[in-house]
Amino acid sequence: MQKPFIIPIFIPNAGCPHYCAFCNQRSITGADDQLISPEKIGLIANEFLDFKKENRGAVQIAFYGGNFLGLQTVYMLSLLNEAEKLVKKGLVDSIRFSTRPDTIVKEKIDLISRFSVSTIEVGVQSMNNQVLKKAGRGHTYKDTERAFSVLKEHKDSSYTTGAQLMVGLPGDDEAKCLASCRSIANLSPDFVRIYPTLVIDGSLLAKWYKKGEYNPLSLDIAVTLVKKIYLFFTKRKVKVIRMGLQASSDLEKDSTVLAGPYHPAFGHLVFSEILLDHAEKIINMSNGPHDDILIKVHPKSVSRMRGLKNRNIEILKQRCKIKTIKIIPDPGTKNDDCSIIFQ
Ligand code: SF4
Repeated sequence: MQKPFIIPIFIPNAGCPHYCAFCNQRSITGADDQLISPEKIGLIANEFLDFKKENRGAVQIAFYGGNFLGLQTVYMLSLLNEAEKLVKKGLVDSIRFSTRPDTIVKEKIDLISRFSVSTIEVGVQSMNNQVLKKAGRGHTYKDTERAFSVLKEHKDSSYTTGAQLMVGLPGDDEAKCLASCRSIANLSPDFVRIYPTLVIDGSLLAKWYKKGEYNPLSLDIAVTLVKKIYLFFTKRKVKVIRMGLQASSDLEKDSTVLAGPYHPAFGHLVFSEILLDHAEKIINMSNGPHDDILIKVHPKSVSRMRGLKNRNIEILKQRCKIKTIKIIPDPGTKNDDCSIIFQ
């Protein structure tokens, strides 16, 4: 399926009276926290549409970075009205937004149901109440369960639903995080996004980090944990649409991200580790030792199989005592799979 062409409209912290420990939306989105004027939506959309490529799917206006259903009703409706005008003109196919679980109530969904909203992303982050409390989320896992019921049971329940999940939150660990994933899968979202917790300047977490009260995950540990989560959701037939924050010049600055497992190609690292595990398993199950092997992967996965700076090749050579490894692009192999020819 083609990826949607997303036109992001950032509403940093708007509609949100909370102060999550990890959040400084102004740093994450690179925008200030003034409310965007609804009239600007058409201009932003036109700028983005100039860059739409033929191979992209449906066009969606996406309200991100705040708590959409928590906006003042008049303002929220004015944003939706402007977005809807673009739908009526045939420039945009639908609207999506992210919102907190505790703002998903029947009355709000009734209000938005006359607009072309197709996708609602729920900021779940964790399903562990202690972790949610420590992160200052101001809601519990029950709010998330109720939010998904409201969305599924609504008379216009054709919404595509997504769950945003974070790894490395204060007080969280692998066991709690995987338990959260099981609870999320039981809510049957259509997709999930997985974000590693970063220490963003200006956040409460930054204060804790400076005082030595919070240690972020290392990049290696975060990648391995997100790999486990990706494999879990894939097995449960829940699509993982993103792993890691969207790379941006703001996030590249040390002055914005003080610490934490940030990498501009975080998802690539996760897929690389999946292919490494897979190749290593096949080699270990074969009758070795082998001096030379050929690994066949889908052409799009060649760089994933190699790993950053050929890391996977070096690891396989060392761990499996192999002298030469060649990677062969093979369109017949699935994206996250590989096969090995022993020579
Ligand atoms: S809910 Fe938390 S993460 Fe979302 S905008 Fe509000 S403070 Fe930031």
